[in-house]
Amino acid sequence: MPNNRIVKVAVPCPLYNTFDYLLDTEHRNLTIQAGMRVRIQFGRQKLIGIILEEIQQTDVPSSKLKTVIAVLDNHSLFNADLLKLLLWAARYYVHPPGDVFQTALPVYLRNNDDATPALSNVWRINHKQSMAQDEIQQTLKRAPKQQQVYQLLAASESGLDAEALNTITSNWRSPIKALLEKQLIEQDVIPAVIKAKKTAILDYSLTQEQSTAIKSIQSHRHGHAVHVLNGVTGSGKTEVYLSLCETVLAADRQVLILVPEIGLTPQLMQRFRERLNTNIVVLHSAMNDKQRYAAWHAASTNQAQLVIGTRSTIFTPLPKLGLIIVDEEHDGSYKQQDGFRYNARDLAILRAKNNNIPIVLGSATPSIESLNNINEQRYMVHYLKQRANKKPVPSIKLVNLCSQKLREGMAETLLSAIKQHLDKQGQLLLFINRRGFAPLLMCHDCGWTTNCLRCDAHMTFHKGRKQLHCHHCGSQRPAPEQCDECGSTNILAIGAGTERIEQYLQSTFPDTQVSRIDRDTTRNKGSLEDKLEKAHSGESGILVGTQMLAKGHDFPNLTLVCILDTDQSLFSADFRAAEHLAQLVTQVSGRAGRAEKAGEVLIQTHHPDHPLLQKLLHKGYLSFAEEALKERRSAGLPPARHLTILRCESVEPKAAQLFLNHAIEQAQRVEKDNVDIFGPIPAPMERRAGRFRYQIMLQSDHRKSLRQFLSWWAPQLQQLNSARKVRWSIDVDPYDTF
Ligand code: ADP
Ligand code: ZN
Ligand code: ZN
Repeated sequence: MPNNRIVKVAVPCPLYNTFDYLLDTEHRNLTIQAGMRVRIQFGRQKLIGIILEEIQQTDVPSSKLKTVIAVLDNHSLFNADLLKLLLWAARYYVHPPGDVFQTALPVYLRNNDDATPALSNVWRINHKQSMAQDEIQQTLKRAPKQQQVYQLLAASESGLDAEALNTITSNWRSPIKALLEKQLIEQDVIPAVIKAKKTAILDYSLTQEQSTAIKSIQSHRHGHAVHVLNGVTGSGKTEVYLSLCETVLAADRQVLILVPEIGLTPQLMQRFRERLNTNIVVLHSAMNDKQRYAAWHAASTNQAQLVIGTRSTIFTPLPKLGLIIVDEEHDGSYKQQDGFRYNARDLAILRAKNNNIPIVLGSATPSIESLNNINEQRYMVHYLKQRANKKPVPSIKLVNLCSQKLREGMAETLLSAIKQHLDKQGQLLLFINRRGFAPLLMCHDCGWTTNCLRCDAHMTFHKGRKQLHCHHCGSQRPAPEQCDECGSTNILAIGAGTERIEQYLQSTFPDTQVSRIDRDTTRNKGSLEDKLEKAHSGESGILVGTQMLAKGHDFPNLTLVCILDTDQSLFSADFRAAEHLAQLVTQVSGRAGRAEKAGEVLIQTHHPDHPLLQKLLHKGYLSFAEEALKERRSAGLPPARHLTILRCESVEPKAAQLFLNHAIEQAQRVEKDNVDIFGPIPAPMERRAGRFRYQIMLQSDHRKSLRQFLSWWAPQLQQLNSARKVRWSIDVDPYDTF
C-alpha cells in the first residue's frame, strides 16, 4: 500500500520503546514533522503522543498496525535541538521516551488538542490613574466587595485572570466591572510577556573583576564553552549576567536563564525588567497551566527574547537561543527527584553544546562536579573575589556548644551577641533548617515518642496549630495531650525548630519584631513578599528562617547571621552532606554586612575542631571543596566515579527485596565492562509513607560502560514478573542516596 505513511510515536507510558502508527489516506498530503502531536488509540485509552519521525517500514504486522486518530498540530512543537536533547536525555537517564516528551510538554498541551494559546482576560491595578490611596479607600468604602476584589488585585503583581479569581473569591464579575468603570483597574490579555523598558542606568562603574569576566566570556561568545562564574555573595554576578544579556539580545538572539526553585525573587525580576530593553517571560510553579503555556508559546515564537524560569524551563523551545545562564548552579532543585529524573543544569550544558553557544554557571559555591570539570580543563572559570561594595566578607566564628547552658538550643554566648547587635540597631538572621516547634514530643514518664505510623521518622510538633506533622509523608494528626502508652500528661517538646526559636526570641526581645520565614508562614499568596519587604526595610529586626532565606535576598541592615545547627550535617550518611553544609554556611554568611555595617557570622557546633569546619573557616570554600573532591575520589564517589541507583519500594518488604534480587540475577547474566554493583541494601529511611524501600548502587569509571549496561538492563527489568508488585526507578547521577 504505497499510499500509507507510517510514523514512529513517543507515547506517554512506562515502556522503553516507541510505537508505529499508520497515517490514513486523509493525511496523505500532510507535511509531517518530528515534534507534532497526534491523538492515538493506545490499549483502551486515547492518548496524545509525539511524532518522532516518519518511517518507510515497520516490523509491526499490518493487521496489528493502528491508524492515527488525528494529527493535532500543523507544525513541530519542538525545534530540532530540543528533539535531539530529549532523545538523548531519554537514553542517558534510561527513562521511557514517551514520558520524557510528556514531561517536556507544557501541561496545557498534554490535555488540550488545540494548541492556540488561550488569550484570557487579566485584570490588574491601574497605576496610571491619579487618585491617592486614601481617596480610593474612601470611594470604595460603601462597596465592600469591590474593595475586596481591589485588594486581591493589589496583592498580585502580574494581575489575576478568571481562573485565579475563581479560586480565591466568588461573585467577582460585577465588582470587576464597576472597578473598570471607575478606572481603578485595567483589563489586559494574558500577561505572558513583560515588555521591559530600560529605566535604570548604572550609577556605578563595573569593578575590574566584573569587566574582566565579561570581556573574557564575550570573547568566546560565537562558540560553545562552559564558563563558571565563581563570585562570592555580593560580588555582582547579576551585573555580569545583565551585561552578557545586553550583548546577546542586541545581536537578536534569545537568552535562557535558569534559577533555583526559590531563587526567583521579585528583586531579581525587577533588576532584569529595569535594565533590559526586551520582552521577558517568566515560568514558575505558581502560574496556572494556561499562563505557563502562553509564556512557553511566546518564547517558542520569539515574541519573548528573555526567558527566566525554574528547572523545567530548560524544555522551552527557543528558535534563536544565543546564551544560557544557570544561576546558583550548585542548587539541588535543578535535579528532578521523581518521574523523569533529569538534572536541568546538566541538560543546559548539553543544549548549549548542541547549539554551539556559551553557557554561564554562576555560583558563590560551585558544585564539586563543576570544580572537577574546571580542574580537568573542560570548563573555564572566572572569579569575582571582591564584593562589589568593597565591604569585607564577614568574619565567621564558631560557638562551641559543649557543656554550655542552652536555651532552646541557643548558647548564652550566642544570645548575648544577639543582644549586642540589637542594641546597635543591627538586624539579624537565625538560620535553622527545621520547621515547626520541635522535631518530636516525648513522654517524660515512659519515654514514648511521637512516631509517624507510616515512616521510620518522628512527627514534628507544630504548636500554633496544635498538630503533629510528618515532614516525610505529609501525615497529620492532633497533638496528643496525653501519652499514648501510659496516659501521662507530662509531655515534653524535644529540640527546637523555627517556631520555637521565634517564640523564645519574641518573648526575650519584646521590643523587636521577630519574623519567621519558612514554608509554614509563607503559604498564603503574597505573604512571602510581605515578609521579605519588612525584612528588607529593617522593620523586622530578627529573621528566623530555613533555607528559603539562604539565597538571592539582599538585606541591607543585616549585621549578624547565626547558624544554629551544623552537627547533623557533619555526621550524615549522605555523601553530599558536607558539600551542602559548606555551601549553606558560605551562602548564608554572605547575607551579612552587605551594606554600611560590618557583618559577623556565628556557627554553633559541638565539634569546633572538625576538619571540615576548620578548612572552611580558615581556607574558604574552594579549599574545602578541593579537599572534599579528594575524599570523594578515594571513596569512589561522584564525580570521580559515576553513580546510578536502582530504587524499589513496596508495601510488602519482601516484594521489593525479591524484585531487586531478580534484578541482580539478571545483571549477573551478562559481561560487564567496568560496572560495579552493590546491594540490595535498605534505603537510609527504610520505611516511608507506608512503603519499604531498598536499593542497588551501580558505579563505574566510565559513563559509557554504565550507559551501555543500563540500556540493556532496564528493558529486562520491565519484563520481570516481580516488577509488577513494586514501584521501581532508575536514578542516573542521583542527588542523594535517600
Ligand atoms: P551576587 O549576585 O554576586 O550576590 P549582585 O549582583 O546581587 O551580587 O550584587 C550585589 C549588590 O552590589 C547589588 O546591590 C548590586 O546593585 C551591587 N553592585 C553590583 N555591581 C556593582 C559595582 N560594580 N559597583 C557597585 N555596586 C555594585
Ligand atoms: Zn508515657
Ligand atoms: Zn510519615
